Order: sequence, then structure tokens, then C-alpha cells
Amino acid sequence: MNVIHPGGGVDVLGPHGVTLRCALHAHTTESDGEMAPALLLDHYSRAGYDVLAFTDHWVRTDAVPRSPILAIPSSEINATLGGGRWAHVLGLGISADPSHLRRSPLGLAETIRWIDDNGGVTFVAHPYWSGLTPADFAGLQGSPLLGVEVFNTTCELQLGQGVARYLWDGLLTEGYRLSAIATDDCHHPGFDSGVASVMVRVSEASVTEVISALRERHFYSTTGPTFDRILVSEGRIEVACSPCCSITLHAGPGLGGRIGTSRLAYRAGDPVKDASGALVGAIFEPIPGAPFVRVEACDEKGGTAWTNPLPLP
Ligand SMILES: [Zn+2]
Ligand SMILES: [Zn+2]
Repeated sequence: MNVIHPGGGVDVLGPHGVTLRCALHAHTTESDGEMAPALLLDHYSRAGYDVLAFTDHWVRTDAVPRSPILAIPSSEINATLGGGRWAHVLGLGISADPSHLRRSPLGLAETIRWIDDNGGVTFVAHPYWSGLTPADFAGLQGSPLLGVEVFNTTCELQLGQGVARYLWDGLLTEGYRLSAIATDDCHHPGFDSGVASVMVRVSEASVTEVISALRERHFYSTTGPTFDRILVSEGRIEVACSPCCSITLHAGPGLGGRIGTSRLAYRAGDPVKDASGALVGAIFEPIPGAPFVRVEACDEKGGTAWTNPLPLP
């Protein structure tokens, strides 16, 4: 069910009223993280999160009794690409333990299939850090792969290899309909935690609802700015966000447009400003023939928010 807004357009962030702040990639003492599962839940709860996915390497770390926030048993699994190369894959919400895949790793397509067969959803982790190219995704069109990490805090802090938007856009241009998430990949809480979030829209806080909202793409990702709504109609894309210094429509090579508050910005579309003059939204026209359309917003503190590719009417 979609909600049609009075001003026109469907909110592509989803019809539900509850927004949960999710940390979807974090390690505990069950693999190479510093903090035990129960303590990590407390840590992320204090940092303002509602949901934490345990993604220990090849281990499905279970939920914890009396958890302050929702825990999603999950895992990070290495998939072999051949030639000594690997893709790390997040299996979120899996119902089985993947430890046998450490001894007998599968290829990327087979790993995604195993996660799907066991009730989970798949995102490819830190593709920049892993050196992945679009060729590594060959044959995955139409597979249950939901998306990639567009931002990984640990890879950014350690090596400046956290932002994978170039690969993501390349895949979108080739016709892959992939979402993207922003995660911490936390190993050392307090250092590499509380930076990235996935904001999921659900009708109630449950693991089932979060997994299904990920499947439905009722979410956006952020390291700072928030999206209030993204209304899409026949001739118009209307973005409402927290105060930002730029809002950009990405639509493939050479296509799109940016609204920025700096003088060093071309202007495409119409800005929406609040009473104090802050940029809090934008209205864009869809771009005919574009392979995809997605929106990115940046704030003055260096934070970025990413929508998924927008379903255009
Ligand atoms: Zn990894
Ligand atoms: Zn990891």
C-alpha cells in the first residue's frame, strides 16, 4: 500500500509511520569485535539506535535476553571470486549458522542463494576495500542480492576506502536494481561505531518487519542528514530533508543535477528553504532516458544521506 500525499506523489520511503535507526554491520567477541554481544547492544542503544545486526564472520550470533534494542542474528560470509579474490557478504536475518562456509566457501551467486534459502537478505560489504568491479557482479541481475554498502565507516576511517558510490552507480547504469546501505562495520566500539545508520520505515519494531522493509526498499542510509519524505509523481521528485548544503540528483554518467548553497554549485531544480533560509528540500524534474535516479544530500558537518534508486512512475 502506498500513501498518496495531498500535494501529489507517493512517498518512496514507504507507507509506514515508525522509523527505526539501524546498525546493520557490527562484530562482537564471537568473531573479531572487542565487545560482547550484550554490551554492544547497550552501546548502540545509548548511541540512539533501535536495531543492531550482529554480523560476526561465519558465525550467526544469536539474540541476547532482555536486549534494550532489537537484535538481528546475521553474519558476514566470504564468497570466493577466484584468483585469491573475495567478496564479503552480509547475510542479515539468516535462520541458520553459516560456519561450514568457512571451510567450504561458495561463489558469490551461491552464497547469496544460501542466504536467501535461509531466510536472510544480502548486501555486499565494502566493495571499494575488496576491490570489486562491475564484472564481479556478472550474472547477478535478477538474483536475490538486495544491494551494496555505499558507505563503510571502518574502511573510511582506516584507509579512506569507505565510499563505494562509483561502483554502485556503475551497476545501476548497467541495469542492476541495487539498493545501498551505510554501516559502521564496528570492531572497536567508541572508535568505529555510531557513524552510519540505515533508517528503516516499518509498521512496528520487529525483526520480521525490518527484514521485510529492507526487501521492500523502505529505507534510506545516512551519516548525518535525515530525509523526511521523497515524493515521486509523474513530473516531479520532491525531497524534504534536514538542513543541508547540497542536494543532488544522480542519474548516470553526465546526468542529474545539484542544488547547493555554495556559490561553487550549478543549480538544477528548485530549492526549498525554511524560514531561516536553510536548504531543507528540493524539487527536481525526472530525467527522460536516465538509467536510474537517486538522491544524495550533504550537510555542513560532512554527513551524507543516500536514497535508494527511486521507483519512477
Ligand atoms: Zn568485511
Ligand atoms: Zn565486517
